[in-house]
Amino acid sequence: MYFINKALEYIFLPSCGVCGKLGEGYLCIECGKRLEKYVINKRNKLLLDFESSAPKSFFNSDLQNCNKIKSEAIYKFHIFKYEDLIRTLIIQYKFNDKSYLYKTFCEFIVKNKKSFDFIKSYDIIVPVPIHQKRMKQRGYNQSELIAKDLAKIAQIKCYTNILIKTKNNEPQSTLSGKLRKENTKNVYKLINEEKINNKKVLLFDDIYTTGSTALACLHELNKANVKQVGILTLAKD
Ligand SMILES: [Zn+2]
Repeated sequence: MYFINKALEYIFLPSCGVCGKLGEGYLCIECGKRLEKYVINKRNKLLLDFESSAPKSFFNSDLQNCNKIKSEAIYKFHIFKYEDLIRTLIIQYKFNDKSYLYKTFCEFIVKNKKSFDFIKSYDIIVPVPIHQKRMKQRGYNQSELIAKDLAKIAQIKCYTNILIKTKNNEPQSTLSGKLRKENTKNVYKLINEEKINNKKVLLFDDIYTTGSTALACLHELNKANVKQVGILTLAKD
């Protein structure tokens, strides 16, 4: 399905991913205004802003082993609130084959100075990986499509060969907070760490709920000698 959509893109003019309107790029003015209502666009320091006690303890214990991180701060940045229209669009994007929506999300993100400046302050963007099996079912990694496009426009690098998912665990959305942390343990693995040494690395994920996935990935990224790490997510649940 992904390749069919890609092919269609070349044949037809871009249309608004939300309403289908032609001639105003991948997001029309009207729908852009509708999405504005859900914007958070806030940059938070990670350690000072922890909603769930589970990831905090997990992260603190990690930090002891990760003294080499000398970054002044670890920031996380959420674009949207995960509700109503945003929720519908993300579900369609992930589960209903509407892979082309990545263009719409990107168009919105890069037009927003605050989020775009945040992205440009990093050297590399790394999307949260999905398992090979899931990749085969869906045909694409939803975070990767967005991350690649963002990197291209921001003129930074996007590496998809830094983190791999070694276990096809239960989808986080089916689990409660406590189980989410357990479910992400030893699931992600750092490879090619030399590619991110001394670099500012931004992790990208679609939805941030308890933070378990993001923290499990940061834990792996921290094993390299990174200069700074940050988190960017499309939506915050
Ligand atoms: Zn529209």
